[in-house]
Amino acid sequence: MEYSPRKMQEQLDNKEFHLKKKFGQNFIIDENIINNIVDKSKIEKDTLVIEIGPGAGSLTYKLASQAKQVLCYEIDTTLKPLLEENLKECDNVDILYQDFLVSNVKEDIQKYSYQQLYVVANLPYYITTPIIMKVIEDDLPVDKMVVMVQKEVGDRFKAKPKTKDYNSLTIYLNCFFEVEKLMDVSRNVFLPKPNVDSIIIEFRRKKEKLPFQNPEIFFQLVKDSFVQKRKNLRNNLKNYPLPVIEDVLKRYGLDLNVRAEALPVEIFIEIAKALGGK
Ligand code: SAM
Repeated sequence: MEYSPRKMQEQLDNKEFHLKKKFGQNFIIDENIINNIVDKSKIEKDTLVIEIGPGAGSLTYKLASQAKQVLCYEIDTTLKPLLEENLKECDNVDILYQDFLVSNVKEDIQKYSYQQLYVVANLPYYITTPIIMKVIEDDLPVDKMVVMVQKEVGDRFKAKPKTKDYNSLTIYLNCFFEVEKLMDVSRNVFLPKPNVDSIIIEFRRKKEKLPFQNPEIFFQLVKDSFVQKRKNLRNNLKNYPLPVIEDVLKRYGLDLNVRAEALPVEIFIEIAKALGGK
């Protein structure tokens, strides 16, 4: 496959395909970026790669050359003729034309044998966070994700405590993954050109597990602590046994006037344990 803005446009015109904003369709038209994503993903030959949103298949084609198997989820069925044409040489690509967010991915991957499971994708921007949350909440055994996301959203994923971007999602993500920015990507490499720049982010599964068999209390605590970001813990957690929380905070030289955005994940873990999390 060759890539250039002209080629891609010609191909879309030939297949009478119109890019759809509602599905976040900004296709990559720069081969260097595609190569960069694939190289940085360091795909081993016995890897199953899940790609969300193959679009015209330009990234898929390269992924297929490295992976054992590529499993794609594409919501837009009108992309089928384009994908069939562009991926006709790839016998290790399966495409499910369905919404990733409501898919039973755990069941879908059961039919493959593989050593590593990666997610590699240029994500549709309008549902970046729900997609990543689904990977976590469905407890998918993903070893690594390499995803292109809108720059501002990516900054939130790797935010540190006491910064404006630090929130409950940052904490969830950092419980499970090492998060690292791999590279900046200019808006000029997409068709159509979006209003924002992008970054490629890598999430590597942490070896150490959360110290809870049943993390519900922990997750609920984190969610409630951030419910109103400008408010302190005394306000956001007023339905909790506050003296128990206060005791933990004291050990760190803090009190209930602290805001959730100032607390690292370790303190949330200690509070959840004090609240009975096991
Ligand atoms: N991978 C292609 C590329 O990089 O050129 C296209 C990426 S484009 C940013 C996002 C793709 O995700 C589109 O093909 C869009 O139709 C698809 N998509 C949007 N929402 C989806 C969903 N809920 N489930 C599966 N695919 C979705």
